[in-house]
Amino acid sequence: MNILLIGAPGSGKGTLSQKLSKKYNLKHLSTGDLFRAEIAEGTERGKILQDAMQKGLLAPSDILLEVMQKQLSQAEYQDNVLLDGFGKTLDEAKELDKFYNIDKVIFLDVDYSQLLERILKRRICGECGFVTTVDESNDICEKCGSKLISRIDDNEETFKKRYEVFLKQTMPIVNYFDQKNMLVRIDANGSIENNFYKICNEIGNKSKEIER
Ligand SMILES: [Zn+2]
Repeated sequence: MNILLIGAPGSGKGTLSQKLSKKYNLKHLSTGDLFRAEIAEGTERGKILQDAMQKGLLAPSDILLEVMQKQLSQAEYQDNVLLDGFGKTLDEAKELDKFYNIDKVIFLDVDYSQLLERILKRRICGECGFVTTVDESNDICEKCGSKLISRIDDNEETFKKRYEVFLKQTMPIVNYFDQKNMLVRIDANGSIENNFYKICNEIGNKSKEIER
């Protein structure tokens, strides 16, 4: 089974991807992984990607699709793959859907207020890079005991912009897969553990009719 996981910033996509890959032995693939591999190969496409990343620009669509197609056509990526937020635009998602067999698209549906609350509580360890959410009383890293700090871009203003980009770019992708009856919408306002449980229920029971 091949799964595409979609969610807004703060939806828990990264953490849930890791937990799902581990539980179901899925090959977890993100756009960043692909780009790093291509750059490491030193190809012409890799150079263009590196340039775009350094300038903070989105990768050109044609390059993104070529790199995706190259990777996903390999034998080891034919099954048991978890794609982490692939395709930034509707056109890219449609192309992906043409050349690759996706069985389910899981959309982590979280309210704006809940996303914002999570983002504002997010802290990163200045020493080891561990990322967590905190209440005010706790500012010590559970991994190494160093001080936790806020990331500079985890503020309401920046988040609002990122959320608007998400609505504009990603929601058309969600609607596209919904119309094709490939979408599983998960109410992901609750805890990570609860959301993980809900997704496992969907994946573990393939024959179950998709809840919409
Ligand atoms: Zn730490």
